[in-house]
Amino acid sequence: MIVELINTGSELLLGRVLNTHQQWLCRRLSDAGYVVSRQVAIGDTAPEIERAVREALGRADLVITTGGLGPTSDDVTRDVIAGMLGKSLIEDKSVLARIESFFIQRSRPIPARSQVEALVPEGATVLPNLHGTAPGLAIEVRPDSFRSDGQGSWLIMLPGPPRELRPMFTDFAMPLLARVMPPQIFVCRTVRTSGLGETTVQEQIEEPLRALVGRGLELGYCARPGQVDVRFAVRGSDAAKLVAEAEAILRACVGGNIFGIDDQLLEGAIVHLLTERKQTLSVAESCTGGGIADRLTNVPGASAVLLGGFVTYSDQMKQAQLGVRADTLRQHGAVSEAVAGEMAEGARRATQSHYAIAVTGIAGPGGGTPEKPVGTVFIAVASDRGTSVVKMFNPWDRLTFKEVTACQALNQLRLQLLSR
Ligand code: ATP
Ligand code: MG
Repeated sequence: MIVELINTGSELLLGRVLNTHQQWLCRRLSDAGYVVSRQVAIGDTAPEIERAVREALGRADLVITTGGLGPTSDDVTRDVIAGMLGKSLIEDKSVLARIESFFIQRSRPIPARSQVEALVPEGATVLPNLHGTAPGLAIEVRPDSFRSDGQGSWLIMLPGPPRELRPMFTDFAMPLLARVMPPQIFVCRTVRTSGLGETTVQEQIEEPLRALVGRGLELGYCARPGQVDVRFAVRGSDAAKLVAEAEAILRACVGGNIFGIDDQLLEGAIVHLLTERKQTLSVAESCTGGGIADRLTNVPGASAVLLGGFVTYSDQMKQAQLGVRADTLRQHGAVSEAVAGEMAEGARRATQSHYAIAVTGIAGPGGGTPEKPVGTVFIAVASDRGTSVVKMFNPWDRLTFKEVTACQALNQLRLQLLSR
C-alpha cells in the first residue's frame, strides 16, 4: 500500500512554522501499519496544490493533504481538489449548522466567508471538526484516472491547525481507513543505546543481523547527541517474530548499552532503576548548567529519587556548596578528575543521597588549553562504593556539548546501577 502526504502552507516553506504534521501523521500512520513513502511540503497556490495532488494520485493508494481548508483567500485546497476531480461543491446543511453553532456558542458574529467551509465535494465523506469550523474531507477516487493501473485511491484532506487536525485524524480518519483500507501488518521497534558511536554499533551488529536482513528486516540507525537508536522494521505476517529475533541478537552484541525501547529516555531508565531499589540521587553540575536535573525532573515520579541538585559554576560556589577544597582547585583546576570527584562527594554528603553525579568541563568556544582543549569534561559518580570519574571529550558546539555530557553522565550512573 502506497501512502503519500502533502503538507500545504507557504509558512512552512518560509521557515515560519515547523511542519509538525509531517512527524505526527507519519508516526500515527506507521504505528497503525500505513507507512508513508513520500511527503512534500508545498506553497498555498492552486497550481502547486494541483500538481502535487495529481502526482501523488498517480502513485498512491492513499493521499493525505493538510492545510488550506479555512475561509481565507489563501485556503484553496478544497476548491482545487474538487475542480481537478470534476466534482461540484455542494453546501452541506449539517456542516453549515455546526459552523453556525460554533460562532453562536462563542457569541461571535458568523463571518460571511465561513460559509465556504460548508461546501463539500459531491460524494465526499465529512470528517467532523470538533475543535474548529472547517471539516476534513475524504474522497474515494475510483477509478483514479491519474493512475495507469486503473486502481482506485483515497484522498483525505485535513485542516491546518494541529489542535483541529489531531483529534479529527484519530477520531474520524483512522476509523475510516481501518474500514476502507485495512492496514498491512507492520512492526517497528526502536532500541535505544548510549555510550557507543553509530559506526561502532553498526560494526558490532551488521554481520550477526545479515541473515535477518535477507529475510526482510529493515535496519536503520539514528545518531542523536549522546545516543544511537537502532530501528527494526518488518512487514508481513512474520514481522513480530523477526523483530524479536533481531532484538535478541542486538542485546547479545551491545546489551549493556541499551537503555530503552521506542520513546523511552535515559533519564526515565534512571528514575525507574532507582525507584525499584528505593535509592536516591543528587546532582552537582557545572558545565551542564542544570541540564541533568532538568532532564531528571521531566520524568513523572522523579521526586521519589531525586533529592536535589547544585549548579555550581564558579570556583567559590563549588567550595561553598559542595566543599570542594581550595587546594584541589588550585592544584588541578576546576575542570579535573579531582574536582569532579569532590563535587560528587560533596553533593552526596550535603543531600545524604545514595548516589551523586557531578560534571565539570569546558563547553567552549573559549577557555581551552593544549592539555584541556574545548570539549574536555570529567564525569563523576559517587556512592557507598566510592567515587569513579571518567574523562570524556565532546568537542561540539556549546548546546550539543551540554546535551551529550548530560547523556554521558546519566549513562555512567546507569552502568553503575546495573553493575550491582
Ligand atoms: P484555518 O481554518 O485556520 O485557516 P486551514 O485548514 O486553512 O485552517 P492553514 O491556513 O493552512 O489551515 O493553517 C492554519 C494554521 O495551522 C496555521 O497557524 C499554520 O501555521 C498551522 N499549520 C498548518 N500546517 C501546519 C503544519 N504542517 N505543521 C504545523 N502547523 C501547521
Ligand atoms: Mg487557513
